[in-house]
Amino acid sequence: SIHKELEEKIARFHQREDAILYASCFDANAGIFEALLTPEDAVLSDELNHASIIDGIRLCKANKYRYKHMDMQDLEAKLQDAQKHRLRLVATDGAFSMDGDIAPLREICQLAQKYDALVFIDECHATGFLGPNGRGTDELLGVMDKVTIINSTLGKALGGAAGGYTTGPKPLIDLLRQRSRPYLFSNSLPPAVVGCASKALDLLMESNAIAQSMAAKTQRFRSKMTAAGFTISGKDHPICPVMLGDARLAAVMAEDMLSRGIYVIGFSYPVVPKGKARIRVQVSAVHSDEDIDRCVEAFTQVGRKHGALP
Ligand code: PLP
Repeated sequence: SIHKELEEKIARFHQREDAILYASCFDANAGIFEALLTPEDAVLSDELNHASIIDGIRLCKANKYRYKHMDMQDLEAKLQDAQKHRLRLVATDGAFSMDGDIAPLREICQLAQKYDALVFIDECHATGFLGPNGRGTDELLGVMDKVTIINSTLGKALGGAAGGYTTGPKPLIDLLRQRSRPYLFSNSLPPAVVGCASKALDLLMESNAIAQSMAAKTQRFRSKMTAAGFTISGKDHPICPVMLGDARLAAVMAEDMLSRGIYVIGFSYPVVPKGKARIRVQVSAVHSDEDIDRCVEAFTQVGRKHGALP
């Protein structure tokens, strides 16, 4: 019963008809494309989509199109070509975790309407904090009624460390219960994880204070770091990649930050393209303004010490 209650709560949170739980969002992404799409259909996927979306698409027999990252001209050209297929599904991360950038969902939904396509978004990096009430990218960009399918995780902002789901139209969720292999052939979530996720959703639905404070803290960090001379990739997202370019510089600076009690991670090739090494900072709801200011101060000192700042 607690699993059914959580599914109902997730659907209410996203203002969708129904939801289905998985052990992880990786499983939700692995299950959906094969269950929904046939060889007569087409799926159009952003080239930088998460690995689990790529794997899920690999498992289905639909015609596959990969459009350039957030490039609406390229998506339109591919949608035109895909008119010959029975059904079209555009698949994108709502927010991309490596660069902290947000998919242009308004434009994607307009194109989907024009070319009679469905829209699927992976909201792992949006659920719980993007948008005025933390509903996600579709709320932030005002297209909650235009996105058909949402997959997301209970393991990131919702804090449970595991669990994923699909939410959308009831007939789709009914289909997944009959056909989705990671749902049919794997255990459901442990009850403790269900309890934790359920409470997290209660907190978010009681008040938008957490979501609002995330936006303010993100803005504080991004603007202070930019004023200090750093380049922060992406826009308005609490994932704040501090762009450094050089892999060694990112590694030594991240180590130095850790020695000052600030846990940030350096990323370099092959996780990100060559020459685009960065330290990825994630602002959290539990950070205070003082924490954020201390982090900016430490970055400034460490950046000067290692030559990233003059
Ligand atoms: N989708 C995206 C965009 C992710 O970043 C992740 C996790 O890194 C997943 C899916 C997988 O989520 P989970 O950890 O719940 O399997």
